[in-house]
Amino acid sequence: MRKLLFESLIRPPLTEPAPASAGAAAEELAAAVDSKAHRRLGRSLAIRAIDAGSCNGCELEMHALSNAFYDIERFGIRFVASPRHADVLMVTGPVTKNMAEALERTYNATPEPKWVVALGDCARDGGCFAGSYAVVGGVSKIVPVDLHIAGCPPSPTDILKGLLALLDHVIEGSG
Ligand code: SF4
Repeated sequence: MRKLLFESLIRPPLTEPAPASAGAAAEELAAAVDSKAHRRLGRSLAIRAIDAGSCNGCELEMHALSNAFYDIERFGIRFVASPRHADVLMVTGPVTKNMAEALERTYNATPEPKWVVALGDCARDGGCFAGSYAVVGGVSKIVPVDLHIAGCPPSPTDILKGLLALLDHVIEGSG
């Protein structure tokens, strides 16, 4: 027993070491999204995530934005629980027949100005689920889409690049 205790004191941890800090590129992108959201909205960017039938791969990357590595809330990007508090609806997955009406109702419940981001290849056109009996297709079959972020799944950095592109487009005058 004493030997075991001694070994546990000198043995290194089995887990991988934590990353030193978030990637510089991600920090730069997040700061740019924050400042453009303030310019356009006068406050932070509120995102309501909607899973319209995804495999959860896209959600894992989206949720990674909130982990300790990216810690995206420090840049003013917040995920909110209600479409009534959202600026952006971020929709993942192919739209299943069961989720089509819920997606449409969520869109209608979101106040203007609002933007829809279709996240991942499935949200663009059904991806690998296209043609399934249970699937309507891409998000644009149900609600108007302002931006598609490609990838299966897109990385957190891709998601930040997409949000920045959306804000650039909006600031240039079409939103
Ligand atoms: S794009 Fe890929 S990761 Fe995202 S929901 Fe479709 S299959 Fe899953």
